[in-house]
Amino acid sequence: MSIPIYTYDAIVVGAGLAGCAAARELQSAGKKVAVITKLHPLRSHSGAAQGGINAAFSDEDSVELHEFDTVKGSDYLADQDAVEYMCKNAPGTIRWIEGMGAAFSRTADGKIAQRPFGGQSSPRACYAKDRTGLTLLQTIYEQAHRAGVKFYDEWYAADIIYKDGKVSGVVAFNIRNMETVIFNAKSVMFASGGYARAYKINSNAHANTGDGLSIVARHGLPLEDMEFVQFHPSGLSGNGVLISEAARGEGGQLFNSEGERFMTKYAPNAMELASRDVVARAILNEIREGRGCGPRKDAVYLDVTHLGKDLIMDRLPELRELAITFLGLDMIKEPILISATAHYSMGGIPVNIAGNVRKNNTELVEGFYAAGECSCVSVHGANRLGANSVLEALLFGRYVGKNMAAELDGIELRKATEEDANLALTELDFLLTNNGEETVPTLREELQQSMTANAGAFRTKESLEISVNKIKELRQRFKNIRIKDKSKVFNTELQEAMEFGHMIDYSAFIVQSAVAREESRGAHFREDFDTRNDEKFLKHTMAYMDENGEISLDYMDVVLGKHELKARTY
Ligand SMILES: Cc1cc2nc3c(=O)[nH]c(=O)nc-3n(C[C@H](O)[C@H](O)[C@H](O)COP(=O)(O)OP(=O)(O)OC[C@H]3O[C@@H](n4cnc5c(N)ncnc54)[C@H](O)[C@@H]3O)c2cc1C
Repeated sequence: MSIPIYTYDAIVVGAGLAGCAAARELQSAGKKVAVITKLHPLRSHSGAAQGGINAAFSDEDSVELHEFDTVKGSDYLADQDAVEYMCKNAPGTIRWIEGMGAAFSRTADGKIAQRPFGGQSSPRACYAKDRTGLTLLQTIYEQAHRAGVKFYDEWYAADIIYKDGKVSGVVAFNIRNMETVIFNAKSVMFASGGYARAYKINSNAHANTGDGLSIVARHGLPLEDMEFVQFHPSGLSGNGVLISEAARGEGGQLFNSEGERFMTKYAPNAMELASRDVVARAILNEIREGRGCGPRKDAVYLDVTHLGKDLIMDRLPELRELAITFLGLDMIKEPILISATAHYSMGGIPVNIAGNVRKNNTELVEGFYAAGECSCVSVHGANRLGANSVLEALLFGRYVGKNMAAELDGIELRKATEEDANLALTELDFLLTNNGEETVPTLREELQQSMTANAGAFRTKESLEISVNKIKELRQRFKNIRIKDKSKVFNTELQEAMEFGHMIDYSAFIVQSAVAREESRGAHFREDFDTRNDEKFLKHTMAYMDENGEISLDYMDVVLGKHELKARTY
């Protein structure tokens, strides 16, 4: 069987905000671009973003305040040069996307409306009701199309072609019929999104299985700061479906079973709008100490009834629908039940500000770029502030696309050969033909349960080591896998098996990086080391995986700047 080789100037994997923005810039600069995406672009998780996108442009706000809030929110682990770049260019990004047709909600006097979000000194999140992500994604997808970008949707990227420090393409399968194609290009960008599906209770789309991270890591390239997983305070009780921070931004309050507005104890100034990690731990602590609400006592109340029907229907209509659909509770009439849910990956593929992927602390990979949630630039450090991540995806996606276009002419195309597909085909063949006893749903359930129980918002050495061992066990059992569907047409069982293989790999990075970080910083909270330790751990984790799945750890300096280290209180 011969494998077709398609040649482009650049390949982008992922069609969320980061991927579409980069592809549009590349194509507009006259380059020939293909976007590979396992979903239709408009089903990318970016479209689920509800609450908003940050930019400091009101009279009361400033770029410096946005920087300060972001650095403080990150518990000082963010690289301040990257934060400065993002905050400075945020207002221009809003004007850019608005100019292309994104319709934001407005104030009475016609300005773009901005709502308060957690950890922020000023109302800064621009929004389109509570469907901000969908508005932005539709706009940028249309514009990428208009520019002439070629979309391969429902194609699954399985591997990169990486040799001698250079990436020159992607191996992908057409999900419709398992046709294998090599996409050969001078440069490749990953914009493949986040990975919270490794957790049982999470807010993410089913597609968020961190494929991009594991594909990269399997080539011995590093992943940065993987221990920092954000737990969002308000997922619907029992399933984790997200109720945006916009609900608290508009004035929502949290209560325990004793009717106490408990945030007075944890963040007396910022209350419900403290940083996400602080609010999530407060909720879980109330539940652990027996003040949980609901039939299982595993949630707290989020109350917005005092805001009134008009405001809720005007600004939070989607959130209301979600709570009615999943819990049967109408937030106009009654409080709803929420608890913390795995939400966002601060860590990822390490990149510099221009989006070039790092080979190690000092070298870059030629022809390889990343942006958006799969990357770590690092603007979020140990904890991301709400409404900073669609900003990151759109802003850095655009900027990286421009840089790729500029660097493209200096890169020589390395011609692909059929052998470049070997690794991906071997994996596929193994999954289709192996006749073991294990099934993916069982193994995945065990992984997700273990990650939620042992590598969640509260961690100890002992709990993390349970997960380390569980992952090792699952890696062995995965070798004994069997999938029943041997067909080639929309074989979702096969795709889920590939995705599960990725989940095992990046989960190993999360737990091993977390065991070694013997401090508490941002979203990473160690009950056995419950304070931040700048002397030993003001540094980024750089983790590498060998062929046997063993992880080794290194560290990289944080880029400090004008915002000096302080204790973080809200
Ligand atoms: C429910 C929810 C609400 C949120 N609300 C907000 C908010 O209000 N404000 C905010 O700032 N942030 C919010 N976030 C976070 C934010 O939406 C994301 O971090 C951001 O949109 C990620 O964009 P992205 O372009 O990096 O990736 P995504 O939009 O996740 O896109 C990933 C793309 O990669 C593709 N892909 C992945 N793997 C493969 C593969 N193997 N082969 C081919 N294609 C692949 C997918 O098809 C998809 O197109 C929210 C997140 C969630 C889950």
